Amino acid sequence: MIIMHKDATQEEINHVIAEVQKLGFKADVSRGESITIIGVIGDERNIPFHQLSILPGVKETRMIETPYKLISREYNADHATNRIIHAGEVEIGGKTPVYIAGPCAIESKAQLFRIAEEVKKAGAHILRGGIFKPRSSAHSFQGLGAQGDSEAREALTWLRDAGRMFEMPTITEIRGETKVELIAEYVDILQIGARNMYDQDLLGVVARQGKPVLYKRHFGASVEEFLSFSEYLAVEGNKDIILCERGVLPTGKGKSFTRYTLDLAAVPAIQEETYLPVIVDPSHATGRRDLVYSMSCSAMAAGASGLAIEVHYNPAESWVDAAQAITADELKNIIDTCNRLHALAVENRKKAFNKPGR
Ligand code: PEP
Ligand code: MN
Repeated sequence: MIIMHKDATQEEINHVIAEVQKLGFKADVSRGESITIIGVIGDERNIPFHQLSILPGVKETRMIETPYKLISREYNADHATNRIIHAGEVEIGGKTPVYIAGPCAIESKAQLFRIAEEVKKAGAHILRGGIFKPRSSAHSFQGLGAQGDSEAREALTWLRDAGRMFEMPTITEIRGETKVELIAEYVDILQIGARNMYDQDLLGVVARQGKPVLYKRHFGASVEEFLSFSEYLAVEGNKDIILCERGVLPTGKGKSFTRYTLDLAAVPAIQEETYLPVIVDPSHATGRRDLVYSMSCSAMAAGASGLAIEVHYNPAESWVDAAQAITADELKNIIDTCNRLHALAVENRKKAFNKPGR
């Protein structure tokens, strides 16, 4: 990264950007209240730091040692500030927590509209609904989108219209590169599911749509890998990345009694490393509706910026993930409790927010 002097002029900044580009690299700009940092994107072996460090207005050049650079706090010109992501009227990563809710899979227009109305009343901000489902079995329902292009468009239209009707921005998962543009036409936030965390080609195409991305941690990924792969979104110039912890797999023998192990320590650990908002998905993490409340509360206490929760008016009859769906009444109870917990956790946060050794 190239750190500009506090009093560097706009011409000097533009000149540095032009020089970076002339050298065959992409330039990324992190503009803070008092300083500007320019990120040099490309094969790091070939960056001529000495050549860049003598340009007018440059204070110093420095290599960011972690593999996640553009999303790191170190690169953020306003080091301690967090990124607030906007989706319609909703702010993710702002002062109050954000709730994403809706069915695991969209089953019909009536199902989606009924759930949308209920979750809105319960206090949700963003409407989710799966159209292309990642399933373990090729013989299970794959989502309405998998039935053909016209079915996909129809379901996407319902999602868009339900979002408009109940005033919630919308989100759905994108599973393959071929569907990115179609989905981006209809929804406000693009979701990359846990299974596709490592698909760097998909990440590139999704990021280039210029919409916020909800990026879920793979169940086998370390936090470092999760952050490193987020960088494939950031290098496309899109830093509207919402990171989502949704559970990892334990390695021991025997039953865990939960679908995955919710790694809640990852929430504050990630917040130390990056300025991006982190949310938690207690539904997929536990796979059990009786645990969703407790894990939601715990996520708030850990400092999460929000929750993604699967809701159905008849949970046991959900076509997908029936065991973890909750009702809108239960969601309301979670939201009411979590709003209070979030305020409390954030209020006393500064005292605890201190990386060992820093
Ligand atoms: C989902 O949110 O619909 C989903 C399938 O979650 P994950 O990718 O975390 O398994
Ligand atoms: Mn699901």
